[in-house]
Amino acid sequence: VRPTSEVLFCEHYSNIIHSYRDLPKLYNQWANVVRWEKTTRPFLRTLEFLWQEGHTAHATDEDAMEETIKMLNVYAAVCEEILAIPVVKGQKTEKEKFAGAKATFTIESLMHDGKALQSGTSHHFGTGFAEAFNIQYTDKEGKLQYVHQTSWGFTTRIIGALIMVHGDDRGLVIPPKAAPTQVMIVPIAQHKEGVLDFAYDLKTSLGKVARVDIDASDKKPGWKFNEYEMKGIPVRLEVGPKDIENKQVVLVRRDTLEKVFVPLDQLETKLVELLDEIQTNLYNKALNHREERTSVALTLSELKESLEAKPGFIKAMWCGELACEEKIKEDTGATSRCIPFEQEQVSDKCVCCGKDADKIVYWAKAY
Ligand SMILES: [Zn+2]
Repeated sequence: VRPTSEVLFCEHYSNIIHSYRDLPKLYNQWANVVRWEKTTRPFLRTLEFLWQEGHTAHATDEDAMEETIKMLNVYAAVCEEILAIPVVKGQKTEKEKFAGAKATFTIESLMHDGKALQSGTSHHFGTGFAEAFNIQYTDKEGKLQYVHQTSWGFTTRIIGALIMVHGDDRGLVIPPKAAPTQVMIVPIAQHKEGVLDFAYDLKTSLGKVARVDIDASDKKPGWKFNEYEMKGIPVRLEVGPKDIENKQVVLVRRDTLEKVFVPLDQLETKLVELLDEIQTNLYNKALNHREERTSVALTLSELKESLEAKPGFIKAMWCGELACEEKIKEDTGATSRCIPFEQEQVSDKCVCCGKDADKIVYWAKAY
């Protein structure tokens, strides 16, 4: 239990920053945070969670802005390229931005049930905190200037997103790039001579191209299949006496549960291809789901109907007035998720008040 990190970092910065030569400054920390929550939800809203946060100080506003967007892009890349979760990048409205920030940027993802999840944020502070904490430096001309700051964070709630976006009725589905174990070898009839030796040799040779483990315990193969499906391991490799005789193995992919026989001499290549294919398939599946669950609304009643008929993102024009943002939340339960970087004009009138509007906003019910 502690004040926000900004307080700690700003105090520190006011002690260590004196000259333009001290800039820029970048600190990263991993910290466990405790927050009072009335209602908790595993992974998404917990009393205590682990996060990564960065705090930077720069000489100019442009440098701070560049850092803010750079980190937003890093978080987006982690979500899209590693976790196979597509995100919408954009800016938070005044109402939803971090208190004390000049601007807050966010990546928003859509869960299986049509609720949005804020998946990472990056804040541009301007000189607000620097003025409050007196963080000044002497520039090249010998003049005192306030620093321009940023902060950004990414938390373990993303594990919750991973579970909800990819999981199915059998359990977890972990994208290969994020999976600690990518391939689980399950020997069949392992008591028969040569099977275990063969399976262990496979573990060694495939270990060069993937993260491979083996379950040589006494449990029945069917039991093992279920367990590793539940744990979301991307590929199961089955090998038994017949396969050894036929110089092949069986690969079963977790995402589609498809089974393929692969000749031993092609195994390394096929396995790498298969892992890539699963990664791409999971991303595309999530993207299709998001697209299916994204609607356009031109009026408040349309927005409300869409949310009920097909929960997801609603794209609608907004005049920029807080009153409209609040009314939408009150009437529909949806909050403004972001003003996306990729703007489009679906109308020129605010979805709520009908006055002129030139910004499209993503709205959704959110975790
Ligand atoms: Zn309006």
